[in-house]
Amino acid sequence: MARFRKTLGWISVAAVTLALGGSAVAGGNPAAGDLRSFPWRAKNVILVIGDGMGDSEITLARNYTVGAAGELALDRLPYTGQMTTFSVQETDPSIPDYTSESASTASAWSTGQKTADGRISTSPSTDQDLTTFLEIAQDRGMKTGVVSTADITDATNAAAMSHVAARGCQGPADMASCPQDAKENGGPGSIAEQAIDHEVDVLLGGGLSRFEQTITGGPDAGLTVLDSAAAKGYEFVGTRDDLLASDGTKLLGLFTPSHMSVDWAGAVAANPPSGPQRCTEDQRPANEPSLAEMTTKAIEALTHRSRAGFFLQVESASIDKRDHVSQPCEQIGETVALDEAIAVVLEFARTSPGTLVIVTADHAHTSQITEVDAAPAGFSSILLTDEGGEMLVTYGTGSTPEGQQHTGSQVRVAAAGPQGWKVVGLIDQTELFDIMERAIGAS
Ligand SMILES: [Zn+2]
Repeated sequence: MARFRKTLGWISVAAVTLALGGSAVAGGNPAAGDLRSFPWRAKNVILVIGDGMGDSEITLARNYTVGAAGELALDRLPYTGQMTTFSVQETDPSIPDYTSESASTASAWSTGQKTADGRISTSPSTDQDLTTFLEIAQDRGMKTGVVSTADITDATNAAAMSHVAARGCQGPADMASCPQDAKENGGPGSIAEQAIDHEVDVLLGGGLSRFEQTITGGPDAGLTVLDSAAAKGYEFVGTRDDLLASDGTKLLGLFTPSHMSVDWAGAVAANPPSGPQRCTEDQRPANEPSLAEMTTKAIEALTHRSRAGFFLQVESASIDKRDHVSQPCEQIGETVALDEAIAVVLEFARTSPGTLVIVTADHAHTSQITEVDAAPAGFSSILLTDEGGEMLVTYGTGSTPEGQQHTGSQVRVAAAGPQGWKVVGLIDQTELFDIMERAIGAS
């Protein structure tokens, strides 16, 4: 296979060891550098999410950067399967919703149960709180972290660490859609309040504006969420320099008022197609850390002077957000940012063999690689790839470039480390919860 011609790194050595009879297994301990699956428990679990990262989004990023026969860090994970991502109807949960979104899908892997679009780890119709894997990990003494390029209160992150009826209920002033969850009504509060009340050890991303809102009920009423976090012992960091200089182990890093900036820029897709174009890289402002830097810092904080294991969820959010608005360069840049974070995670896993790593998407998305000579009905752009090819990217699920939609196909799921083989074949998103729970010995 091309990947073995082009890359002769440590994973190829592991693959050869496996092919030769797996001598690393005989001694009972995986050798450093071995990312294969072992039947014993995981000390650490790292779940990496590309929001909206369907197969075509991955292929676009591979083609543009390392080339069609090249290998992304994602491609080094030794086990790959496919995963269904449907959600269910709010009024009749026995009926599927074939095109899901980030709230229902993140709730599915966080809780092991299907829910309706827009819900955050609560049940459809009955609005019951569903126990999350992060809560189970905390109960077992593991440290926890959530890292994202979106608002840290956005749906993918929210489902790991909170329970509300609607994904919009992100700060104390945003509770109109879920009054029953507000603290003054006896609820657990907004997503931002719950993240802090749960004392998730590391929270890094965007969304400062939610934490500047004033809490309206409960013992912290009158404080901002930031004040409440400080009272609970969080160290706050607001810039890349502050983050890189910090050696804190209970970290709240919020680098933008809402979603963080994207890394790349380019022309929007159009009809007739825009381009041919090369993407402009390195566009992220200097005061914002990269996803890889946040991931590195999160792992440092979660392992510093700690022998406890940890659960870390990492998300590149704007693959989805830029797919929605037909911006191929921005979308590919955010996929590359995710891949750089995956490289950080795999390097940690290589030297910490008790680490289960899972990389997947929440749902599929619009962009397609189409025939360059065709005249697709949607909005397209011609990209000139690093290896000198022309690649036509087409967005065709909405009537305007800004109005593109999620798609409902299965997505890739890849894994390494203890129990990682369980993603092979076709699984459902809810099974990620079972895999992670069994991996840490909680079921
Ligand atoms: Zn979306």
